[in-house]
Amino acid sequence: KLSVNATDYYEEARAKTAEFINAGDSRRIIFTSGTTQSINLVAYSYGRKFINRGDHIVISNIEHHANIIPWQVLCREIGAELKVIPVNDRGELIMDEYKKILCEKTKLVSVCHISNALGSVNPVKEITELARESGGDTKVLIDGAQAAPHMKIDVRDIDCDFYAFSAHKMYGPTGLGVLFGKMEILESMPPYVTGGEMINYVTINKTEFAAPPARFEAGTPPIAQVIGLGSAIDYINGVGKDKIQLYEKELLDYATQLLLEIEGLKIIGAAKDKASIISFVLEQAHPHDVGTVLDAEGVSIRAGHHCAQPTMDRFNVPATTRASFSFYNTFEELDKLAAGIHEVIRIFD
Ligand code: PLP
Repeated sequence: KLSVNATDYYEEARAKTAEFINAGDSRRIIFTSGTTQSINLVAYSYGRKFINRGDHIVISNIEHHANIIPWQVLCREIGAELKVIPVNDRGELIMDEYKKILCEKTKLVSVCHISNALGSVNPVKEITELARESGGDTKVLIDGAQAAPHMKIDVRDIDCDFYAFSAHKMYGPTGLGVLFGKMEILESMPPYVTGGEMINYVTINKTEFAAPPARFEAGTPPIAQVIGLGSAIDYINGVGKDKIQLYEKELLDYATQLLLEIEGLKIIGAAKDKASIISFVLEQAHPHDVGTVLDAEGVSIRAGHHCAQPTMDRFNVPATTRASFSFYNTFEELDKLAAGIHEVIRIFD
């Protein structure tokens, strides 16, 4: 009875996750260890079966390393080519360049919904529509790690083939990720990891694999984490994504205004459609020094390359300081951020 209860709670959370992104059917939801593993699952399983020598894989210039390296490794291994959508100085994808890259050799497009380093919100629906017109059998993966907590997600409206995100970025537990996939594509894919829980039957010589999602969930499942994700989804739904989006936009506008007034501060990333993060560099101090001083002031930000070194290269900076805002932040906290930056300038100027 206890184990049946645990399974029921686990599957209930899968159904909630499916509803959270409008997947339509909970069998399209695979639990992984994070966005990184979700992307690797596609690269290893779909990529090694369906992508061949000479094919193209398209990413953008503002991806997290988790959405670069699996494709680099795949390309090197099978002789495929990695194509990169460039971005303009505001950090927006140059769609005309994307259209030029697409061709009948394009087998996969994998881009982020929101850039973790700049906050740019990519036009993922348009990206998917254009991919469908490429002339090839092009699949689309959206890395939604940063979008899941901040905006409404509708994978059927986007019409993407895969969508990946992490529980810990949406107030849930660490060590858990999600991969959405269209059913017929998941059914065509071989397992990525094998072992218990992912089979119909096993003899000593051969195995019949289970249908998705079980086929991709070998081993004891992350039961506690998945149930925790279900609670995080209840929590977010309780606050309301519409409310979250509106309030975070107000925070972003207020903070942008405050920071633009600071002499020597340059904001990196000014996309028209932007999520609630501000990446910046200061003439007067290195991002790590900014981070240290702000930390002492009780303001938590992140300094570094944000696992997005090609993005840093594009903007000719080794690192940035990044302030990320969520619906639990207040305008007073943004005043404190600005005051902290003035303190950095006082110290280093
Ligand atoms: N993609 C983006 C846009 C991210 O921001 C992150 C994490 O910061 C990842 C992928 C990787 O997520 P995880 O470390 O949860 O696998």
